[in-house]
Amino acid sequence: TLHTMEIVLSFGISYDRQAVKRAREAFLSGRTRPLEFRLQQLHALQRMLTEKETEISTALKQDINRSQYDTPLLELIGIENEIKLATEKLAEWAAPRPVERNLLTISDEVYIQPEPLGVVLIIGAWNYPWALTLLPLVGAIAAGNGAVVKPSELSEFSSLLLRALLPRYLDKDLYPVVTGGVSETQELLKLRFDHVFYTGSGTVGKVVMEAAARHLTPVTLELGGKSPCYIDKDCDIRVACRRITWGKFVNCGQTCIAPDFILCEPCIQGRVVDRIRQTLLEFYGADPKCSPDYGRIINQRHFNRIMGLMEGYTPVVGGQSDALQRYIAPTVLKDVPPHSRMMQEEIFGPLLPIVAVSDMDDAIRFINEREKPLALYIFCSDKKATKRMIEETSSGGVTVNDVMMHYTLSSLPFGGVGQSGMGRYHGKHTFDQLSHQRACLVRTLGMESVNLARYPPQDRRRARR
Ligand code: NAD
Repeated sequence: TLHTMEIVLSFGISYDRQAVKRAREAFLSGRTRPLEFRLQQLHALQRMLTEKETEISTALKQDINRSQYDTPLLELIGIENEIKLATEKLAEWAAPRPVERNLLTISDEVYIQPEPLGVVLIIGAWNYPWALTLLPLVGAIAAGNGAVVKPSELSEFSSLLLRALLPRYLDKDLYPVVTGGVSETQELLKLRFDHVFYTGSGTVGKVVMEAAARHLTPVTLELGGKSPCYIDKDCDIRVACRRITWGKFVNCGQTCIAPDFILCEPCIQGRVVDRIRQTLLEFYGADPKCSPDYGRIINQRHFNRIMGLMEGYTPVVGGQSDALQRYIAPTVLKDVPPHSRMMQEEIFGPLLPIVAVSDMDDAIRFINEREKPLALYIFCSDKKATKRMIEETSSGGVTVNDVMMHYTLSSLPFGGVGQSGMGRYHGKHTFDQLSHQRACLVRTLGMESVNLARYPPQDRRRARR
C-alpha cells in the first residue's frame, strides 16, 4: 500500500506541476492583460458566490460547524465588497500614474505603470477558507496575474468545493486549485512563482519564505500572534465586553485577529468577568453546546492543544468540553500569570485569559515586551490616552473601542508587522501588493545639446566651459 500511496502522491504532484505549467503558459499568452478580461473574471467569481452560497455554507458547517448566518457576514460579504471595489476602480488602479519630472526630463513622459507579476501562489488557512483564498485571488485577477490556489487540507469540505467550483466559473488554466497537505504544498513550493501569498502560522511562514528565497520570489506572509485587548477602567464596560465577547468567541475563537487576551486593572476584573458571562448567556444561551451559533474546533489535534493550555487553571466562566464533538465552551480565566503557557502561544480557540496590569503604562510595557501582534484593541473613552497608547506600541492594525472592525475597511492595509507578518492587502493594497510598480521614462531623441554635459571626455567639457 505504501507503494500505491507513493504512486497516487506522485501522480497528484505531477498533475499539480502540469497545472502550474498551464497557468504560466496562459499568463504568457497575454490574455490577462486587457482589463475587460480581468473584469469578466471578477464578475464570474461574483456569480459563483451568488449561485453557490448554500453549498459554501454547508461546507463550512461540515468543516467547522459555522452557523449559516455567520457565513455571509464573516466570509462572503467581505469578498463581494472587494470584487465590487476592484471592478469599479480597476481602470483607475491599473492606469499609468504620471509623476514629477526633473530639469533634465522636463519635456519627457515620466510615469509609474503597474504591471502583473506573473503567476502567484496563494496558500490559505482553514479558519476562513473562502475569504483567505479568494480575497488575495480578487487582487491577483485584478492585477492581471495567473494564480494557483492552495486551500488548507484541514477545511476539507470547503477545499474540495472550491476545487470543483472555481474552474466552472473562471479561466481553467489561469486559476487552478491544488488541494493537499504538507507534502503537496512543499512540492508546490519547489516550483518557481512570481509571488507567494501565504496565510497561516509563523512556523510554516518560515518554511514558505525559505522555499521562496531559493527562487528570489517575494512573499506576503499573513501570520498570527497574540492580539492584546486593553480595557481602561473608565470605559463603558458593558458595551466593551459585548464587543469583545463577540470577537473572541465567533468562529469558536479561531480568528487570526480575535482578541487573544485581556489586560485590565484588578479593580475592574470582576465586573469584566460578570459582563462577559452575561453576554455569553445572551449570545449562546445556558448551554452553548446546543446553540446553532456556536462553532467547534477544527480537529482533534487543535482540541487537545487548546485543552492542554487550560491545564492547571480553574476557569471562572465555561471550561466544559466534549472531545467527541470537539466542543470547548466559551471560557474565561482571570489573574492568569504572564508566564503561563496560555500567555506564550497564540490561543486560537475559545479561551479568554485576563491578565492584571496596574495601569495603562503597565499595559503598554506588557505589550512592548512581547512580539508585535497582528492587532491591538484599546477600550478607552479618553482620546488623549488612547492616542498615546497607539503611539507607544506597535501592531499590524489597531481598533479602538471595538474589535476586528479595521479588517472590514478596504481602505486600510491589512497585514502584520514583525512576527505577525509582512506585506499587506485588501482593496487597492492587494492590487499594489501583486503588481510591479514599473518605473517608466519615455524620452525623445531631440534636444541632444542638453545631454552633452554628461558625455566624456571630461577635458573637452572643461575646455568648453
Ligand atoms: P493551516 O494548518 O491550514 O496551514 C496554512 C497553510 O499552510 C495550509 O494551506 C497548509 O496546507 C500549509 N502548510 C501547513 N504546514 C505546512 C508545511 N510544513 N509546509 C508547507 N505548507 C504547509 O493553518 P494554520 O497554520 O493552523 O493557521 C492558523 C494560523 O494562521 C494562526 O496563527 C492564525 O493567526 C494565522 N492566520 C492569519 C491570518 C491573517 O490574515 N493574518 C488569517 C488566518 C489565520
